Amino acid sequence: MHCPFCRHEDTKVVDSRVQEDGTAIRRRRQCTACERRFGTVESATLSVVKRSGASEPFRRDKVMSGVRKACQGRPVTDDQLGLLAQRVEESIRCTGQAEIDAHDVGMAVLPVLRELDLVAYLRFASVYRGFDSLEDFEQAITELRQERVPAGDRAPEVVGAG
Ligand SMILES: [Zn+2]
Repeated sequence: MHCPFCRHEDTKVVDSRVQEDGTAIRRRRQCTACERRFGTVESATLSVVKRSGASEPFRRDKVMSGVRKACQGRPVTDDQLGLLAQRVEESIRCTGQAEIDAHDVGMAVLPVLRELDLVAYLRFASVYRGFDSLEDFEQAITELRQERVPAGDRAPEVVGAG
């Protein structure tokens, strides 16, 4: 990147911070020749590759609508879904990949959803982790029970077998 003042080609980054919504990085740069400072904004495109091989830009509202289905009948608000989608996007961007499989987006949802609602988590996990038997649910519930810290906390209800 050229220095906008003297056109020198070598600049160094003196500060970087990720924008609040996680979609861009602001950098302060300093020209190594004239030592003047300027700012740049870098935003990365993030693509989701579908099973068909087609790719499309990552969209939080798609994450939200997918998770919303798993949250039917659960006390989860749209605000919480929005925050979940934001955290999912951040966790994907943290991996540094420019492209991610649609399936991996689902996998990235799991740890975030688990903190939000256990029943919705189990429903979602049943799809993305490919549960095909009651044993898979039992296994997941056992994992959840083992990870829960406070003793005597109510265990998650089993999702209807439908
Ligand atoms: Zn310069």
